[in-house]
Amino acid sequence: MLTDQQKGEIVDFFSQKRKIALTTHMNPDGDAVGSTLAMMHYLRLKGHEVTAIAPNSFPGFYAWLPGASDIVIYDKKASAVKKAMMEADMVFSLDYNGFSRVGQMTNLLKSAPGKKFLIDHHIDPEEGFDYYFSKTETTSTGQLVYDFINLMGDEVLINKEIAVAVYVSIMTDTGSFSFASNYPETYHIVANLIDKGVDAERVHRLVYDTFSENRLRLLGYAISERMLVWHHLHAAVIYLTKEDLKRFNYQVGDTEGVVNYPLSMDDVNLSILITEKEKKIKISFRSKGDFNVNLFARNGFNGGGHKNAAGGQTFTDVKKTISDLKAALEPLKDELNYKLSY
Ligand code: 5GP
Ligand code: MN
Repeated sequence: MLTDQQKGEIVDFFSQKRKIALTTHMNPDGDAVGSTLAMMHYLRLKGHEVTAIAPNSFPGFYAWLPGASDIVIYDKKASAVKKAMMEADMVFSLDYNGFSRVGQMTNLLKSAPGKKFLIDHHIDPEEGFDYYFSKTETTSTGQLVYDFINLMGDEVLINKEIAVAVYVSIMTDTGSFSFASNYPETYHIVANLIDKGVDAERVHRLVYDTFSENRLRLLGYAISERMLVWHHLHAAVIYLTKEDLKRFNYQVGDTEGVVNYPLSMDDVNLSILITEKEKKIKISFRSKGDFNVNLFARNGFNGGGHKNAAGGQTFTDVKKTISDLKAALEPLKDELNYKLSY
């Protein structure tokens, strides 16, 4: 977190009009978009010139968020992003813990001359940032942005736009208050966000009940035709090939949430989604209970994340990825063999 001296430096820094670039991770999720927009609205209210940036497109079900269309996508507007990054007095890194998480923007981020400020809730943030507002015992980066605004003494500035962005962060990163959601503070914050005008019911529908027919059919197909259950490992894998995605006219965001379904089986403690992309295989890991997918993803699958939700990648093919996963899990069979109780 910030020392008192750093806090003083930051208050000082923001006492003049500044150029700020906000960045978030590749394949932005609800927390990436939510924390970025909350920070964007806050800093604009404070009078700063803010460019919000994402490395690539975010799912359409976040497009309704106030200010979402202001997010500049590096994939589409590289030169505008370069300009903003090189001119920024400060660059924020939101919802990620290492430079390479911005993908194609990694070198640009490293070479940006402004101060670097990381706000994030993943473990072990990389060295190289000037300021860290980082802790793992929280729901989301959006919640940390809320904390940061309060730390700056600006609670009164939290308006409906900021509140709804923070709410989306918390709702999506807790799977609608089902994991990482045992922090009493979160519910005080959520109560405050609703006081500020958030319509929690409507937000839930806008994010979760806006599937296309293809997306819902892809989900059904994934579970019915593409799921392997390794009962002896208490694990399940869903794999989706490029052809599968094409068949259901895949759009960004269509596979979001698919990885959670296998965990609804009683004896499954680990769920893995393998998605074949153009140049790599993307893997998502989710666990319930003790099994640490962050470590598993870091150790063998070029990734990381949190204890119960992580991601990674391979550069082989779907079949080999499945067999590598199985081989890596066999020795962990006992670790995966537990039953939740209360
Ligand atoms: P998802 O499976 O939704 O892509 O990612 C789940 C979590 O793992 C998110 O918190 C995300 O930030 C993190 N994550 C996903 N992919 C990677 C990766 O390649 N490297 C690291 N360090 N974290 C990842
Ligand atoms: Mn997050």
